[in-house]
Amino acid sequence: MPDRYAVIGHPIAHSKSPLIHGLFAQAAGQDMVYEAIDGGAGADGFARALAAFRAAGGRGLNVTLPFKLAALQAADAASDDARLAGAANALRFDGGRIEARNFDGIGLVRDIEVNLRRPLQGQAVLVLGAGGATRGALLPLARAGAARIVVANRTADKAAALAAELAPHAGACPLNGGGFDALQGAFDVVINATSASLSGAAPPVPASAFAPGALAYDMVYGKGLTPFLRAAQQAGAAQVADGVGMLVEQAAEAFAWWRGVRPDTRAALARLTVPLA
Ligand code: NAP
Repeated sequence: MPDRYAVIGHPIAHSKSPLIHGLFAQAAGQDMVYEAIDGGAGADGFARALAAFRAAGGRGLNVTLPFKLAALQAADAASDDARLAGAANALRFDGGRIEARNFDGIGLVRDIEVNLRRPLQGQAVLVLGAGGATRGALLPLARAGAARIVVANRTADKAAALAAELAPHAGACPLNGGGFDALQGAFDVVINATSASLSGAAPPVPASAFAPGALAYDMVYGKGLTPFLRAAQQAGAAQVADGVGMLVEQAAEAFAWWRGVRPDTRAALARLTVPLA
C-alpha cells in the first residue's frame, strides 16, 4: 500500500500541493499518495481531521490557512523555526508522536538563492508586512547572512514588536521594524509579504527603497505582475519574482523530511511558473 500524505486547510480546493507532491513522487520514485483535506470552518475541524487521517495510517501533513497555529499546538515536538514562527506548515507522524516544522522561510530563501541566483549574504533586505508569512521568513533570511533586515508594516507597532521579539535570535543581523513612513535607505532585496496583492493593492513602499539592481519579490503567486512588482520595476528594480518558487521549495523541504530524499523541483517549477507579463 502506498504511504499517505495530504494537505489540510480551509478552503483547500485551490491548493497546488497535490500537483507538486505528485510530481515530486514521480521524479523521486516514491510509492505514495497525496490528497487534499478540507478541515472545515468549525473550531474543532482540524483536530477531527487530524485524528481521522492518523487513524487511517497517514504519515504526514502539509498545513495551510487557517490551521498553522492549531498544527503547532497539536504537536508533541516542534523545530525552532516553527516555535519562533508560532506556526507549523508540516507535520510528521512518528509512532505515537506528532512532529512539527515550518518550511516557509527556508522555501523563500532557497527560491531566492537557488532558483533566482541571488545570494543573500551581505544583502540589505526589506520585508513588507508583519503577519504570519513575515514571522516565518525573518530568521531564515538572517541565517542566510543578510547584512540587515527591516520590517515595514501598515500597522507600525506590529512590525516594531515582531522585530524586537525576533532580533535576539537573528545572530549578527540587525533586525528592526516600523511603519512605511519611517523607511530610510535602499535595499538590495525587497519582499512583499503583505496580502495587499490579493486585493489588487500595493503597500506604500517609496521608490527610494529599491537599490540599483534590486530584486523585488512578491510572496503572492498566480497574480501576474502585481501592483507591487509593477511599482518596483518603475522604481528601477532589476529583477522581479512572485512566490510560486517559495511554494515549490517549501514543499520540497517537507518531502525530504518525510521521505529522506530531496526531490528535483524543476518539473514542478516549470509546470507552475507563469510569465509575469
Ligand atoms: P497575514 O498574517 O494575514 O498578514 C497580512 C499582512 O498584510 C499584514 O501585515 C497586513 O498589515 C498587511 N496588509 C494587508 N493588506 C494590506 C494593504 N492593502 N496594504 C498594506 N499592507 C497590507 O498574511 P500572511 O499569512 O502573512 O500572508 C501574506 C501573504 O503571503 C499572502 O498574500 C499569502 O498568500 C502569501 N504567502 C505566500 C506563501 C508562498 O508559499 N508563496 C506562503 C505564505 C504566505 P496590518 O498588520 O496593518 O493589517
